[in-house]
Amino acid sequence: MPDASDADLLDGQALSQAVRDEVKADIATWTDDHRPPFLSAVLVGDNAASKAYVRGKEKDAAEVGIETETHHLDADTSQDELLDLVHDLNDDASIDGILVQLPLPDHVDERTVIDAVSPSKDVDGFHPENLGRLMRGTPRYIPATPYGIMEMLSRSDIDPEGMDAVIVGRSNIVGKPLANLLLRRTANATVTVCHSRTKDLAAHTRRADLLVAAAGQAAFIDADMVKEHAVVIDVGINRVDAPSTDRGYRLVGDIDFETVRPKAHRITPVPGGVGLMTRAMLLRNTLKAARLRAESA
Ligand code: NAP
Repeated sequence: MPDASDADLLDGQALSQAVRDEVKADIATWTDDHRPPFLSAVLVGDNAASKAYVRGKEKDAAEVGIETETHHLDADTSQDELLDLVHDLNDDASIDGILVQLPLPDHVDERTVIDAVSPSKDVDGFHPENLGRLMRGTPRYIPATPYGIMEMLSRSDIDPEGMDAVIVGRSNIVGKPLANLLLRRTANATVTVCHSRTKDLAAHTRRADLLVAAAGQAAFIDADMVKEHAVVIDVGINRVDAPSTDRGYRLVGDIDFETVRPKAHRITPVPGGVGLMTRAMLLRNTLKAARLRAESA
C-alpha cells in the first residue's frame, strides 16, 4: 500500500487514454471527408517482445480508427528483400505511415533500413531528416517515447522551465531526442545527458529536478541517487526472473521504484507508465501522416 507521503504516480494508463480519446475524436472528424489513416508495420523474425509491441500497436490503432497491416517476415529475410518491401510501402499511396519494428536481425543494417523509409511516412521519427528537423526546432514526427514523456509532463502540469533535467541514456530514439525537446524554448530545461562513460553518475542524478532513466539496467537507480522531491520518469523496460509467475519473469524499470517513490514528487510506474504513452503518440503521428499526405496530394 502506498504511504500518504509517497510520490503521486504519473499514471500512463489514464494519461494515454486521454490521448487516445482525443486522437479517436480527431479521426472521427477526419473521416467525414477522408479515408481512415493507414499504418503499415514491418516485423522481421520472432522476437517475442517485438511481436507483443506490434500486437499492442495494432490494438491501439483499431481502438482509435486507424487501419493497419503487418508484414511479418522470416528472421532470415535478406536486407535487400526488406528494402524492396520498404520501397513498395513508400510508393503505395494508400499507406500513410510505415513502422519497422526494431531491433532487426543482426545481418540487417538498421540504419540502412531506417534511411530507406520515406521521411513523410516515418511515423517513428527515426529518419535523419526527421531527427534533423527536431534538432532544428521544426519537428515533423517526434519519436514516440520522448514525445510521450513531454505529453505526460504537460498533461500533469509539470513545467520543465528552469529545471535541472538529467537524462540517463543517449540513444537516438530516447535520450538524444528528449534532450532536444527539453531544450526547446517551449520547455526551457537545463539538460544533462549521461551515459555509460559518465564519471560519477550519482553526482549528476542527485541534482536532477527532473530525472529520466533510459539506460536499460534493471532498478539500478536507487533512492540515494535521487534528489528529494524530484520528478522521476522511468523509461527502462527490463525483464527480471520471477520463477513464481506464469511467465517466469516480470518487467521492471531502471528506477528502484519502492525506494525512490517515497522520496520523489512524481514518478512513473513500470509497467503502466511511459510505454503506454509511447504507444499513444504513435497514433497521433499516424494521424499527422494522413493529414500531411492529403495536403500534399
Ligand atoms: P540503448 O540504445 O541500449 O541505450 C542505452 C543508453 O543507456 C546508452 O546511452 C548507454 O550508454 C546508457 N547506459 C547503459 N548503462 C548505463 C549505466 N550503467 N550508466 C549510465 N548510462 C548507461 O537503449 P534505448 O533503446 O534507449 O532503451 C533504453 C531502455 O528504455 C531499455 O530498457 C528499453 O527497453 C526502454 N525503452 C522503453 C520505451 C518505452 O516506451 N517505455 C521505449 C524505448 C526504449 P552508452 O551510450 O555509453 O552505451
